[in-house]
Amino acid sequence: TAPELLRNFCIIAHIDHGKSTLADRMLQITGVVEARAMRAQYLDRMDIERERGITIKSQAVRMPWEVDDTAYALNMIDTPGHVDFTYEVSRSLAACEGAVLLVDAAQGIEAQTLANLYLAMENELQIIPVLNKIDLPAAQPEKYAEEIAGLVGGDPEDVLRVSGKTGVGVTELLDRIVELVPAPQGDPTAPARAMIFDSVYDTYRGVVTYVRVIDGQLNPRERIAMMSTRAVHDLLEIGVSSPEPSPTKGLGVGEVGYLITGVKDVRQSKVGDTVTNSAKPAAEALGGYSDPKPMVFSGLYPIDGSDYPVLRDALDRLKLNDAALVYEPETSVALGFGFRVGYLGLLHLEIVRERLEREFDLDLISTAPNVIYEVTMEDKTVIQVTNPSEFPGGKIGEVREPVVKATILAPSEFIGAVMELCQTRRGDLQGMDYLSADRVEMRYMLPLAEIVFDFFDQLKSKTRGYASLDYDVVGDQAAALVKVDILLQGEQVDAFSAIVHKDNAYAYGVMMAGKLKGLIPRQQFEVPIQAAVGARVIARETIRAIRKDVLAKCYGGDISRKRKLLEKQKEGKKRMKTIGQVEVPKDAFIAALTSE
Ligand code: GDP
Ligand code: MG
Repeated sequence: TAPELLRNFCIIAHIDHGKSTLADRMLQITGVVEARAMRAQYLDRMDIERERGITIKSQAVRMPWEVDDTAYALNMIDTPGHVDFTYEVSRSLAACEGAVLLVDAAQGIEAQTLANLYLAMENELQIIPVLNKIDLPAAQPEKYAEEIAGLVGGDPEDVLRVSGKTGVGVTELLDRIVELVPAPQGDPTAPARAMIFDSVYDTYRGVVTYVRVIDGQLNPRERIAMMSTRAVHDLLEIGVSSPEPSPTKGLGVGEVGYLITGVKDVRQSKVGDTVTNSAKPAAEALGGYSDPKPMVFSGLYPIDGSDYPVLRDALDRLKLNDAALVYEPETSVALGFGFRVGYLGLLHLEIVRERLEREFDLDLISTAPNVIYEVTMEDKTVIQVTNPSEFPGGKIGEVREPVVKATILAPSEFIGAVMELCQTRRGDLQGMDYLSADRVEMRYMLPLAEIVFDFFDQLKSKTRGYASLDYDVVGDQAAALVKVDILLQGEQVDAFSAIVHKDNAYAYGVMMAGKLKGLIPRQQFEVPIQAAVGARVIARETIRAIRKDVLAKCYGGDISRKRKLLEKQKEGKKRMKTIGQVEVPKDAFIAALTSE
């Protein structure tokens, strides 16, 4: 298709504002998916996406649309809306010329609406503001049209009103996309350059790479090269999704489609990388490529130790489809053999864990998440710490932790509550703006470590669910951080070590020691539980001794009953871990690490 007849756009929205539903309706109205084949959230293919109603992997679809007897091709690129996947969102945006800014007419602008809008503006996209869910009785289109116009400029009257559910206004929206989104521009005679905005592992076809051609042309049976790695692949198939894959004779300037090369690992086809022709390579890659960086780490252990090889294979398989997933083997005194896994954020963590449990039938325990720390010793050696138990002893010069820029939107009555929460999380208020008379945008710098743990839940509960949050890691800062160890009868229990701000060390020590006291059964001797920073004990609990002889109860009883009891005790022992001389049921570790 000639570039003048192409329109590439994405839909950006806060989670649950109806992006996937609107996409469904567009597929139906343009006729690419028949009504009877239609199922809700057609594009959200992964099971977890459908169940949780969120979009994880972005997808692209080509739809025909006629305006004034001219046949256009619209490429719709669906983007994930969650903060953990900002990098994927920004790559998808870079593949478009326009963005439909979708806002729930009963909710108004939310934190992710803003975050995505700012990304779209940085990419110089034509913004088409749209109010969705106008069928809802609670919709307030007049009020929120003003809010949106105040943000993106223009007349509130020009904000389209649609319902992805009933289809009202969707035809007008498609017309407006053709009218307002600029046609792609590029040099058809230059060496080929295409940007990868998604890559997905498919069991039958290997990696399917989604690209947007910027210059030149990609043809079937050519050899292509990845510009960041110089890796060369044979192009086995090239095509477009509408939405089922259909091969084409090539992709030209501005076109969006997929490539299949037979590679088996998405890391050989990285989001953000530039594809070129290996025989006639482009001189320069398209800008903006960066490796996704894991930000949150946690230990992952099979509850049944014999599942370790299954877990290892499962992680290897998952990695084929998740370039951001990193892991390495780790052993823990308390939990045995497992892995230290790096994630983009908490949602990523949950999704990976859920997929492992569901797709590979594993029972897993993951330890409390922590961020990555950079420790500089007094002798200037630098250590990257991804596991609290690796935090060095000895003379420490400085500890640095990642910080985020957070945007919080809330009704103005909750300003006090939000400030209080952010203060207890070591936040620093950067600025505050009123979006309307009763809604404010607050900008904070916060340590990432303070956000990864239940911050969002706290924010929601303190604002009766009305606040929304978005954040971006922007750098790091020095902080007074210490490692708190937990000792059982003088032995350190690695899984419970934590890196916390020195002002919070005492509270953490008391909390953990108390929790363990409640979970570890009495032994035949006294067991001290201590929390310590270095050699200094900051909290202590004691489990009193008990003499527990199971046979005592059966003096005079028959021998078979005794044997049964002894066997039962042996069974129980298998699920015990011995720390020093203390026998701790594995369940106690699990309870201490998972409950809060
Ligand atoms: P996404 O997270 O932005 O992809 O949002 P979804 O498309 O998954 O929609 C979130 C929820 O809003 C779902 O329960 C939808 O059924 C509902 N929804 C979406 N669009 C509309 C609409 O136009 N009207 C109404 N009443 N509900 C909608
Ligand atoms: Mg969705």
